[in-house]
Amino acid sequence: MGWSWRIGRIAGIDVRVHPTFLILLAWVGLTHVAAGDGWAAAVREIGFLLLLFGIVVLHEFGHALAAQRYGIRTRDITLLPIGGIARLERIPEEPRKELVIALAGPAVNVALAAGLFGVLLLGSRTDALANPTLFDGDLLVRLFWVNVWLAGFNMIPAFPMDGGRVLRALLAFGGDYLQATRVAAGIGQGIALLFGLVGLLLPSPLLIFVALFVWIGAAQEGGAAAVRAALGGVPVGRAMVRQFRSVAPEDPLSVVVAVMLDGFQQDFPVVEGGRVVGMLDRTELVTALREHGDHVTVAAVVRPKCPTVHPNEPVEAAMRVLAEAGRQSLPVVRDGKLVGMLTADNLGEFLTVRDALREWKSGHGGGRPWSPWSREVRPGGDGSSPDTVGRTGQVRVELDGGTR
Ligand code: ZN
Repeated sequence: MGWSWRIGRIAGIDVRVHPTFLILLAWVGLTHVAAGDGWAAAVREIGFLLLLFGIVVLHEFGHALAAQRYGIRTRDITLLPIGGIARLERIPEEPRKELVIALAGPAVNVALAAGLFGVLLLGSRTDALANPTLFDGDLLVRLFWVNVWLAGFNMIPAFPMDGGRVLRALLAFGGDYLQATRVAAGIGQGIALLFGLVGLLLPSPLLIFVALFVWIGAAQEGGAAAVRAALGGVPVGRAMVRQFRSVAPEDPLSVVVAVMLDGFQQDFPVVEGGRVVGMLDRTELVTALREHGDHVTVAAVVRPKCPTVHPNEPVEAAMRVLAEAGRQSLPVVRDGKLVGMLTADNLGEFLTVRDALREWKSGHGGGRPWSPWSREVRPGGDGSSPDTVGRTGQVRVELDGGTR
């Protein structure tokens, strides 16, 4: 989404607009002028477009306010030429809540359409509805069809549309959230293929565009949900690296290089007097070697201020810290003491092992489920029993593939 401008704040939620949206406004205005409709028509159509996006904002507020009921905040609502996006802080994985939040957007459009229909009915103008057009005619009629179209389009059962979330929530009532997402994403991609095919046959560039949009949305959601479902609620302490070497600020880089070549470790916590003072990662190290050689000390090249995470923190939250800091790994610190390292590679390993054991388990009709609860703390680890490592408990996760 890059950058966008804040145009207002409603109910504590920033409403932002992407610059490309202005291009759309200008384009609509200019096409009318170019077609010889005159400036008045151009201004009218720009006004209509603004009304249309006002309705999109209301739709997004439907989602945002429904989410607020469940204590989920919305970071902001952004208007793009293709529609609006309400950025929720998180997506609930309880199917009932997701269902309500997903339906709340289209419900706004249904309510608006019903209201407009009522107004048209009172004015005995319902016969104008026989011409379902968005592009000319009576303003109220156009707005009626805008709402019908928005509700209908958004209920297409494919990600990233609301209908995709509704479908996933309905499927998830039956059990596994990840499985539900996979099925919903599959159905979404099937629909995208169908749209693409019809778009090619007609031919309709708009339909092809929608097909692409849906295809990408389904793939993204499938991937994101897999990661989220796999890591949801797992505390850092269970997925962190426990065997690693740290370095001291006064160590020359040649020492770090020797340690790196000795083993597989690529990032090194920098520890001084028992406290973590930084993290020297592989990229930094290579850059420093290129610029300064291997005689300078770690202290001279390490980036100051490295964020740390607590072993009880959920991995999801830690991954956000990781991404925001633009790092490959983070020191895990408890009571000021370095107890582990969270690395992207290790998270991948954690998931691979768990998936493999899940498969084994499903093929062997049960058996003792593997769970990182039973991970042994090796000598030299943090010394705490695995049971006390990160019992966050707010988010349920079934590490043995049970039902959610
Ligand atoms: Zn929506």
